[in-house]
Amino acid sequence: MKPSILTHLAHAGRASAVDGGQPVNPPVVRASTVLFDSVAQMREMRSRRGSERLFTYGARGNPTAFALEDMVTELEAGYRTRLFPSGLAAAAMTLLAYLRPGQHVLLPDCVYEPVRKLAEGFLAQHGIAASFYAADGHDLQARLRRETRLVYVEAPGSLAYEMCDLPAIADIAHRHGALVAADNTWGSGLLYQPLALGADISLMAATKYLSGHSDVMMGTVCTLEAAWPALAAVADAFGISVSPDDAYLVQRGMRSLGARLSQHERSALAVAHWLRTRPEVAEVFCPALPGDPGHALWQRDCHGTNGLLSFALRAVAPDAAERFIDSLALFGIGASWGGFESLAVIADMRGARSVTDWSGRGQVIRLHIGLEDVDDLLADLARGFEVIGGGRVAGRALEARLDTA
Ligand SMILES: *Cc1c(COP(=O)(O)O)cnc(C)c1O
Repeated sequence: MKPSILTHLAHAGRASAVDGGQPVNPPVVRASTVLFDSVAQMREMRSRRGSERLFTYGARGNPTAFALEDMVTELEAGYRTRLFPSGLAAAAMTLLAYLRPGQHVLLPDCVYEPVRKLAEGFLAQHGIAASFYAADGHDLQARLRRETRLVYVEAPGSLAYEMCDLPAIADIAHRHGALVAADNTWGSGLLYQPLALGADISLMAATKYLSGHSDVMMGTVCTLEAAWPALAAVADAFGISVSPDDAYLVQRGMRSLGARLSQHERSALAVAHWLRTRPEVAEVFCPALPGDPGHALWQRDCHGTNGLLSFALRAVAPDAAERFIDSLALFGIGASWGGFESLAVIADMRGARSVTDWSGRGQVIRLHIGLEDVDDLLADLARGFEVIGGGRVAGRALEARLDTA
């Protein structure tokens, strides 16, 4: 029997033995220069490094980074993985690896906003056209162009967590001769497996749940074998590498990925169900909730949910969302998510969407539910509703909390 991925996360990427015994974790190997025994050996190693992973120079990676690459490859069930200095860099290099001037990429309306800006700015300036399809993918076929070479997917999407039918999208893209790249940051490899669902390339911001402690930036790209050479070539050409200290931190975070995600899921579901009972809330965006438009696809394709959810306020006062967030004591106000702590931000849905019309809908708040006690978080959110008015103070009385089992 093949061990579960949770077992692998605890056992993979160990150090090799040194005299006296074997440490559990790999050493942090800092290196630019790597020495060879002879000119002939150096020549021979360099002749093979285009296709094999060899420790020949720091810019191609180091043993600490290789251990992390292997853990990510196992998690994503792909062929090989490269590391990038941030999730955005991983997305940008993916676009550059598979697109040439004159070609076209289709991006989902729910794409992480800096990727939208990259496509509209840098890619356009370099002759690569980009356009957008609906977050649920229903209009993909109609939006394909003769020059479409890449279909980019993000499921669930940023901010409103729309689901799409990745196997169906991959089928349409492949029949058209286009590759499929998926942003798997939400799924973090455990909750969603794009490569098994038809994608050729899966990328993640390891900055989020893989590292899990809000103290390191990193991106990963894992591909199927056929898509690998183009990705490796662009990473080598741009001299992209990460610090072994950062690789070590991400690997260390991944040891507890399963345990952290289960806790994030439990608390986020409790908050999501509670928000649905609040009179101040117009809509909760979380595909794990029954009744969510993406719930059936989430049930089919995902293996759980994480700490993310958004909700729209009924309030029309233009500063309601801002006053709500400012009143929270336990939710930090800051970018990113996936760490151990709770965060709240305003989601500017009108700026983040071009295919879907968000005008006329309420202000949206995006929460990341951290590892704090969920009753404390609910009491804090109840205070927020009290500040914006219209709601009864729930305090610590959590009678409205539903059983999420
Ligand atoms: C945060 C995020 C990224 C970018 O990751 P960074 O490491 O912050 O650059 C990419 N995609 C998604 C969906 C994200 O949430």
